[in-house]
Amino acid sequence: MKVIIAGAGIGGLATAIGLRRAGHDITEGQIFERSSLLRENGAAINVCPNVSPVLREWGFDNDRARMGIARRYVLALGNTLETKQDVEYPDFLQLYGGHWLVAHRVDLHSELKRLATDPDGPGKPAELVLRSEVINYDSEAGSITLADGSIHHGDLVVAADGVHSAAASHVVGHDNPAVSSGLALFRFLISTDELFRDPELVPILKEGFTKIEDGVMRTLITEDSIKRMVWFPCANNTIQNFAIYQGDTNPDCPEENGDTLTHVENMISHVQDYHPHIVQIIRKATSVKRWPLLYRDPLPTLTKGQLVIIGDAAHPMLPHQGQGGAQAIEDAAALSVVFADLPVNPSKDEIRRRLVVFDKIRLRRASAFQIISNTTQDKSWKIRERAQQYMPEGVGVPTCPAEFWEHNFGYDILEDSRRHMKTYLEGTVSRCNECDEI
Ligand SMILES: Cc1cc2nc3c(=O)[nH]c(=O)nc-3n(C[C@H](O)[C@H](O)[C@H](O)COP(=O)(O)OP(=O)(O)OC[C@H]3O[C@@H](n4cnc5c(N)ncnc54)[C@H](O)[C@@H]3O)c2cc1C
Repeated sequence: MKVIIAGAGIGGLATAIGLRRAGHDITEGQIFERSSLLRENGAAINVCPNVSPVLREWGFDNDRARMGIARRYVLALGNTLETKQDVEYPDFLQLYGGHWLVAHRVDLHSELKRLATDPDGPGKPAELVLRSEVINYDSEAGSITLADGSIHHGDLVVAADGVHSAAASHVVGHDNPAVSSGLALFRFLISTDELFRDPELVPILKEGFTKIEDGVMRTLITEDSIKRMVWFPCANNTIQNFAIYQGDTNPDCPEENGDTLTHVENMISHVQDYHPHIVQIIRKATSVKRWPLLYRDPLPTLTKGQLVIIGDAAHPMLPHQGQGGAQAIEDAAALSVVFADLPVNPSKDEIRRRLVVFDKIRLRRASAFQIISNTTQDKSWKIRERAQQYMPEGVGVPTCPAEFWEHNFGYDILEDSRRHMKTYLEGTVSRCNECDEI
């Protein structure tokens, strides 16, 4: 099967890995990526236990990608740094088969790219075509159009081109953009060495809430729990990752970056009542990225004809559950199973039928995450009613950390996809028996 993928982010690269392992052809330049992939694509990311086993199965090298393991969660007041919660995480590897990992996004991306394109891997390596912007999809013809006017056909087209993708509108048949949630996240990285170079900070970096320790996930809040700052290490604890949630003063501006000095002043005025040491840390930021947090309601389907939409293109969500990238990887894992053992020269109908199976596997779970991610875990009552319709039969919307872990992490995408495919293949056989064809 010839596959075309639009976008070489987490979802596009993961799909290329999964499909090359399933024996499909993503060569001859079939991943079309708009950027030159030279730009650092920011900050750190959680890779949760629902997908770390998938990456492991695909040969992902945690050491090469400098992945750390999240071991503890600490919540403190921003103004006094008084600890309100200090929780040792359970052994997620034992509970759910995978660690909760933290990565520098660039490291995660580089390792995914290596697995997708390495000539030594299984199947045919994928080839990336950079600076190629997809501007249109044709789901019936199984094609994409690039900004240079060229049209490229595949048996399967995977739209993995992020939150501004045109594919969602194509699938539903009308304009359907993701819109501002009214929030933006300001993110910056500071090297651990840089923090230790400040003699005034050294004592606090050695004890208490601010003690530098690998695997510690920190959140600072105000008493009203509205102003939040998240802090966790990545890249083997050599880099500290910070993020501050703020109301988005310029929600119509899609620009992710901007002037760092202005961002720093904005962040400081937002958390002006925070402890002076935290303000001192924020002042060290030399590059701040503004991420407008965009949202769209769940789609009625993720597929049309030979087109499938995955990742943020399909189900953009706020980062409160740390699951956007993980859901893109679950999409890729499902595709790798749905299209395994495909007959040689499959018919269009066979591909379309398998995409219906993909929809069955993915639509409800990804939609549930879209709704659940609209709020933090301590305020899940806000989304309970809306999220319930997407939960599995007989399962309630989670209300406490242990229930969130069970819902988010206690799910095996590969196993669930195999189960759906078994039903599909058995169903196909019996249908064929009825009409006397094999
Ligand atoms: C602040 C923040 C924190 C987050 N933290 C986490 C976390 O801890 N854990 C987690 O799992 N997720 C997290 N996420 C979500 C995660 O980053 C996204 O869900 C994930 O990157 C989605 O992957 P994707 O491949 O679908 O899209 P993207 O990563 O956006 O990749 C899309 C790719 O397509 C390319 N592209 C765009 N348009 C075109 C076009 N027209 N033609 C060709 N190529 C195109 C882009 O250049 C890019 O390479 C966070 C998100 C935010 C905003």
